[in-house]
Amino acid sequence: MAESAPLDDRVSATDLHDIAIVGGGLVGAAAGLGAALRGWRVLLLDLAEPAWEPGRLGMDIRNVAVSPASKALLDELGVWQEQQAIAYSHMRVWEEQGTRSIEFDAAEVQRHELGWILENGPLVASLWKRLRAHGGITVRAADRLVGLEPGNETMKLHLKEQGQRASADARTAQARLVVAADGARSAVRQLLDVPVEAFDTGHHALATVIRTVKPHGGTAFQRFLLDGPLALLPGRHPQLSSVVWSQLPASAERRAALSEDAFCQEIASASERCLGAVEAVDRRLVFPLQQMLAASFNPAPRVLLIGDAGRVLHPLAGLGANLGFEDVRDLFNELGRLPSGADPGAAGVWLAFARRRRVRSRLMVDIMGALRRVYSSNDPLLQWVRNLGVGLVDSSALLKRQIIREALGLGPLARGSGH
Ligand SMILES: Cc1cc2nc3c(=O)[nH]c(=O)nc-3n(C[C@H](O)[C@H](O)[C@H](O)COP(=O)(O)OP(=O)(O)OC[C@H]3O[C@@H](n4cnc5c(N)ncnc54)[C@H](O)[C@@H]3O)c2cc1C
Repeated sequence: MAESAPLDDRVSATDLHDIAIVGGGLVGAAAGLGAALRGWRVLLLDLAEPAWEPGRLGMDIRNVAVSPASKALLDELGVWQEQQAIAYSHMRVWEEQGTRSIEFDAAEVQRHELGWILENGPLVASLWKRLRAHGGITVRAADRLVGLEPGNETMKLHLKEQGQRASADARTAQARLVVAADGARSAVRQLLDVPVEAFDTGHHALATVIRTVKPHGGTAFQRFLLDGPLALLPGRHPQLSSVVWSQLPASAERRAALSEDAFCQEIASASERCLGAVEAVDRRLVFPLQQMLAASFNPAPRVLLIGDAGRVLHPLAGLGANLGFEDVRDLFNELGRLPSGADPGAAGVWLAFARRRRVRSRLMVDIMGALRRVYSSNDPLLQWVRNLGVGLVDSSALLKRQIIREALGLGPLARGSGH
């Protein structure tokens, strides 16, 4: 799409791309595919082609709850139909020390569902299948980005093939725009020394899949325990639910080491047997949870950060991938405004985008931080206020409708961020 630009003498014309996407996870793969479908010449790099295997209970351990706005994006990219998406129409939120709960129901906003649960592995695999099949995308699936250098009207990327000696020569490619989607420990962010605010959540997550006696019936459960929230999300079989249990690091290590029977009993009791007894548990993964916000989403000319490269959220609201997909939608909107043949990395193009993405991320990071603090306190006054608040929300149809609409990506806060 771009007109030819003067090239660095070590780079051949085939190595010049309109857009280089660094990282082909959920967010980068969606961004690369959508940009190519819009006619841009795309380079997509990752350390390896993503591979996944179902766990013992037949599902991926990593799952994401996606909003209707994210579904629309995945539909447009042609990957929605291939997913075994599990719709959930009901959500119950309650806490260890409270007497009340909030029930959210899709019918309250005249919808059939609040969202869908997707397994990460199959979703990334579908995106990659389409990336591979698209003629306008160069995929390099064994390349690590090791350097970035401003070139002549382009950004030069220094790449090292995985497994090469450290002293081996780096290869190069050039792009007019570099989009970093290389995750929470983004190499692009580090190479450019982008300052970040990192907030230790004090939590580790324990992720797994459980089989329960009662069917989930399309309900997502979230219980705020004193040492962190426990979420049970409906899985592809009526008796399978995926688990994200945020908790103190020592508790996560202890629970990961429990025998299967002991773990099943402990999680059944922690969830107040909302799905009856727990019969089986899959592999348990434990990892630290940090929140992070980059100082800028356009930290250098011709460079953008999206997805977890720009901000990382506590998984308690299931928003990280949804916000990443919002970045992607916003990126497509901006690209769509450029006249044909325009330079997608030209000065000034991304200022408003970067501001919007950061404001939206700041808000969500702050809300997640506040929620976690409020729910982990055992101060009796705060407990009373919390119960009162939960009761008020549950009894106010208007307030509940607003909360649901925001969570679905359909409220004014979410919509205002993408345009
Ligand atoms: C337990 C848990 C539960 C969650 N649940 C939800 C949920 O219900 N809903 C939701 O919306 N979100 C959820 N999230 C968040 C969501 O999973 C993330 O926000 C999302 O996966 C981030 O995607 P990404 O593509 O930005 O980054 P990643 O998935 O981390 O992808 C980054 C990619 O970059 C590649 N890469 C890294 N370094 C380099 C390099 N130097 N060169 C080339 N490539 C590189 C990596 O190999 C990887 O493929 C959850 C997160 C956790 C931890």
